[in-house]
Amino acid sequence: MQHTVVDELGARLAAPEEFGREALVVCDAVVRIFRTGGVEVQALQGLDLLVGRGEMIAVVGASGSGKSTLLRILSAADAPSAGTVRVGRWDLGALSARDRVTYRRTVVGTVRQQTARNLVPYLTARQNVALPLTLAGRPHRTARTRVDELLELVGLADARDRRPAGLSGGEQQRVAIAVALANGPQVLLADEPTGELDTTTGQQVFEALRAAQREAGTTVVVVTHDPAVSGQVERTVAIRDGRTSTEVLRRAHVGTDGAHGFVAEEYAVMDRAGRVQVPREYREALDLTRRVRLALEDDHVAVRPDTTRADTGTAPAPERRRRRHGAA
Ligand code: ADP
Ligand code: MG
Repeated sequence: MQHTVVDELGARLAAPEEFGREALVVCDAVVRIFRTGGVEVQALQGLDLLVGRGEMIAVVGASGSGKSTLLRILSAADAPSAGTVRVGRWDLGALSARDRVTYRRTVVGTVRQQTARNLVPYLTARQNVALPLTLAGRPHRTARTRVDELLELVGLADARDRRPAGLSGGEQQRVAIAVALANGPQVLLADEPTGELDTTTGQQVFEALRAAQREAGTTVVVVTHDPAVSGQVERTVAIRDGRTSTEVLRRAHVGTDGAHGFVAEEYAVMDRAGRVQVPREYREALDLTRRVRLALEDDHVAVRPDTTRADTGTAPAPERRRRRHGAA
């Protein structure tokens, strides 16, 4: 009996086809549907995403594309309607109420856009950062050292005795990052943490997130509106209509003149069924509609318009075809 269990487990762990086996965060065909007053909104429509341990990624996308929904699911504040979400050994689609509390306290840290909502207003920076440690039952002395280390990490050692009202918006967000890191989470989730800040202050907040990744080894997922931000992370994932549509990878490279720099390359994301979204500009430029022709070439796949122009599935009438091409 026991053998069977062990063998099955062994087989499952060894299954080479398991999606994202190595990744810390795995989203596999995640769907989230909201129903309000008879109206159904599909906030996530089969989203796939892998994030490696210790990686920092930016998530970008138009308003309403599903970014916050994704983050809320990753922080276990919400649950997927379908699909699989896994963070480390935690299956977020099937958390008990008790596991949810443990997960939220120990595995993830979150930073919200609204600066005012991240901190307790009547506590100093130090007391705010100490709060989660006290709740977790950390002895006072070790907690104190940790609080100072964390405030140092986000560049706010000097501000430790100030209350939120005495801190700028950017400083408040950096304290919020220290609070989120207090219990040593594996993943830090930040939903538009620089949304209410100007560019310079936003940069400092971003620098604090990078410090969390670099020095604490935390995996960071940050949602942002700021296009300049994608220039600062190795990978930017774009969400469109509740799915990951493109990824921009940024790589160090050495130019012909020997200068060190970075190149950013955009990739389309292919889902597990082989679906790729063709950007609207491309579709419009070549009039790609419901059907396209695919051809396998030596080193690429060609996508060509449907020359029969058959919207209904049958060949079009000759007159219609002439009209379309403007022949009189
Ligand atoms: P983003 O953060 O990218 O702006 P959201 O994840 O907040 O997008 O929202 C995605 C879609 O889901 C939107 O159409 C939004 O109106 C809808 N939505 C989000 N949360 C809820 C909710 N609690 N109830 C109903 N609809 C929601
Ligand atoms: Mg949002």
